[in-house]
Amino acid sequence: DLCDIGVIGLAVMGANLARNAARKGFGVALYNRHGGRTDALVSEFGHEGRFVPSKDLAGFVASLAKPRAMIIMVKAGKPVDDVIADLVPLLDEGDIVIDGGNSLFSDSDRRYRELKEKGLRFIGMGVSGGEEGALLGPSMMPGGEREAYERIAPMVTKMAAQVDGEPCATYIGLGGSGHYVKMVHNGIEYADMQLITEAYDLFKTVYGLDAAAIADIFEGWKSSDLDSYLIDITTEVLKKRDPKTGGALVDSIVDEAEQKGTGRWTAANALDLGVPLTGITEAVFARALSGRRALRGEAEKLLPFRAPAGLKPSQADIDAVRDALYASKIIAYAQGFEQMTAASKDYGWELKLGEVATIWRGGCIIRARFLDRIRDAYKASDSIPNLVLEDYFRDAVLAAEPAWRKVVMLAVQHGVAIPAFSSSLSYYDGLRRSRGPANLLQGLRDYFGAHTYRRFDAEGSFHTRWSQDGSEIRTDTPSE
Ligand code: NDP
Repeated sequence: DLCDIGVIGLAVMGANLARNAARKGFGVALYNRHGGRTDALVSEFGHEGRFVPSKDLAGFVASLAKPRAMIIMVKAGKPVDDVIADLVPLLDEGDIVIDGGNSLFSDSDRRYRELKEKGLRFIGMGVSGGEEGALLGPSMMPGGEREAYERIAPMVTKMAAQVDGEPCATYIGLGGSGHYVKMVHNGIEYADMQLITEAYDLFKTVYGLDAAAIADIFEGWKSSDLDSYLIDITTEVLKKRDPKTGGALVDSIVDEAEQKGTGRWTAANALDLGVPLTGITEAVFARALSGRRALRGEAEKLLPFRAPAGLKPSQADIDAVRDALYASKIIAYAQGFEQMTAASKDYGWELKLGEVATIWRGGCIIRARFLDRIRDAYKASDSIPNLVLEDYFRDAVLAAEPAWRKVVMLAVQHGVAIPAFSSSLSYYDGLRRSRGPANLLQGLRDYFGAHTYRRFDAEGSFHTRWSQDGSEIRTDTPSE
């Protein structure tokens, strides 16, 4: 019998997706550049379902039912183009090539167009949930032509995580939109993790708590609106003992964060679109600063840091950190969703952001109770200007505001860096001012560059001859 779906690239993610499909009853064709991975998968997990391994791509393609559908799960970048180039001569019109890796959305846009010209259908599908998600049910974000998605939807929706009987997979939009939404998901994941790390640093450095005590605090937050996968695993990571030292494992881990690039892509795209994305961008920069460990070591000698002594947190102090974290998290999500709104408009994708929130409720790394609230906010309209202005989030941020300010002041006072907490608060303070200070900026720009400005009390653009006679002239042609 011919297979329903194929998987190319059988490292952790590909192997687990293949097993997931087989366990759901689909026949799965397998191919990996080095055959060893294919053999290992079949010998270890062959009993889980129907696998058809091939040693070459031609055999792989021949083992698929038409129109063929195959998921590429290889290293992002050039390897995806290499695999596609090898595949194209073997495929027939209407076949569907799905890239499930972490590809840059503009690469997916290009591949979508290139394959369309060849009569083939391309789906760029973001897959979130790490290796466990891939096996047990990830969140999947497929972008491409809707009819192509409809053909694979029965498989994708069965393989995805399920929340309240709904699959965590849905059609996202044209071209590279699936990978775009996955990119923003990862960006939000960066911000979420940075906020958790800042809360940890406050407890550790300002209040002198040990990892076990901090774990207990995070565990208590499970019963709040912060309830999420990332808060759950924070508790587990903090609790883990190091058999070597007898202390907490986290205290033995080097404080240098690595990054594979999706956070950076999200921030760079926000700059392109002109969207104020402070939370995610600060998270990317915080990882960059963490990577300068030798420099930080030198700096601490010359610019000494002294942790405060003897500050014992009250329950109110602990709750304040929770509220500051929650408010900052709302800002990070509001910014990420605003970025998707801007992208949807600029790139013509017609994203359904309520559906995006829906498929992020399970399977993926940022899955959280909170996403139900975002989904509700988008029920009425896909084009709300900013989540913070929606009733639930507005109330939450207003309620948290005093604690948020108190926590930011505490950190600033004691010299503890909280780039995501503090920039989120600054963004919030900038957002709620109908009149900000950019009037002066415009004056400066007009002074040195004759860039002109507009006036509150008159139509048109104006320039002042600052260093000549000081008079103001209108620079546009007044319309009748
Ligand atoms: P890797 O990213 O480590 O890639 C290894 C796989 O790519 C192997 O199957 C390898 O084949 C294949 N490969 C590399 N170069 C080529 C090439 N030029 N031609 C053909 N095959 C090639 O695997 P992962 O499973 O970790 O990830 C797969 C994709 O999923 C990536 O895009 C990743 O970013 C994404 N992803 C990963 C997650 C994770 O938690 N790991 C989570 C979500 C997405 P060979 O065995 O022959 O070397």
